[in-house]
Amino acid sequence: MSSTVLRQVRPWGGELSDVVLADGRIAAITASGSDSGQGPAAQLGGVVVEGRGRLLIPSFSDVHVHLDSTRLGLPFREHTGAPGVWGMMMNDRNNWRDAEASMGERTETTLRMMIERGTTRVRGYAQVDMDCGLERFEAVAAARETHKDRAEVKIIAFPQAGLLLEDGSAALIEEALKNGADVMGGIDPCTLDRDPVRHLDIVFGLAEKYQVPIDIHLHEPGELGHFSADLIAERTKALGMQGNVTISHGYPLWGVSEAHTRRLIETWAELDISTATVAPGGRYQLPLADLVAAGVRVGLGEDGQRDYWSPYGNADLLDRTWQLAFANGFRADDLLGHALAIATVGGASILDPSVPRLASTADRPGTAVGDPAELVIVEGECVSAAVMDRSLDRTVIHRGRVVADQLQLV
Ligand SMILES: [Zn+2]
Repeated sequence: MSSTVLRQVRPWGGELSDVVLADGRIAAITASGSDSGQGPAAQLGGVVVEGRGRLLIPSFSDVHVHLDSTRLGLPFREHTGAPGVWGMMMNDRNNWRDAEASMGERTETTLRMMIERGTTRVRGYAQVDMDCGLERFEAVAAARETHKDRAEVKIIAFPQAGLLLEDGSAALIEEALKNGADVMGGIDPCTLDRDPVRHLDIVFGLAEKYQVPIDIHLHEPGELGHFSADLIAERTKALGMQGNVTISHGYPLWGVSEAHTRRLIETWAELDISTATVAPGGRYQLPLADLVAAGVRVGLGEDGQRDYWSPYGNADLLDRTWQLAFANGFRADDLLGHALAIATVGGASILDPSVPRLASTADRPGTAVGDPAELVIVEGECVSAAVMDRSLDRTVIHRGRVVADQLQLV
């Protein structure tokens, strides 16, 4: 049996420990120094990784990333996007084919950089529309194949240009599902397609047909967003899709009234509808403490990274964790740790509904015996310091095996 021993690590900043990984899981944890050479670590043998007193945390889960719109690794480019989803989408459409590297190279580079920085669980979009056909989906699928032993990647077939505005869009999305897409995507049913019932009937219809979960970009704020969220909730309940629907961005949670927000949170908790944030600037912050208290799964993502939509994003979800904390005005240690729990196990619980929801802002799961050996060892005096300092001294573990060290694949 192949095993790995992580020597002298501090799980979530706790006691100095030796951690044994076997069969892709955490098999044993002993206090460092208590193992006299006869304990489980010694008996199993195997590879020894020197933790050097660094923190041990669960690996990052990026559950909202556009792997196919990235320009990471390419020269910085002037931002030419027009405001609004359609204007930004057209900016991407008009420019992506002329990038200095192919879509395949860009997608592979971005996924590699994410793994090197500690992300081993990914749910990423592949845009499918009448301009790109399945070209971008195939690039994301190829990157997933290249890195299949280093990260688990789920692909969302994503109708960035809507499902109704251009003839043939829905049929193309179905092709992506037939060809290995793992999740059905949707976007702004009212403001983009301007026909929420038809849009959502296609989204839920294809999800039911191919037995896949759903992720819907919902940038619709206010009453309109609540209307879309209600339609999504109705269909989630009718089709028994509890635990398999994610509303990304969650703008309806912001800004109408406290009663509206409370009702929406209760509905999402009851139907196990999860939400993912990209820690945006400005006012659209999710009420994280209320969501976790109600039992709503929350994950984090980098969205587009240095692309035709945005100059932000650097493949580092620890960096985005800092941004989540900053955008929410977090200072207290328990909230900084909560941001890190969202970025790691929060996202993992969206990817796999059998992973328990975070129980509270104090919950720090993912490093106990029996947990998956999806881990990052990172330099940091304590959890808060690790989020603030974002050290690049990291070792990344996937299925119990070191896949990257010091920002390089191994
Ligand atoms: Zn997005």
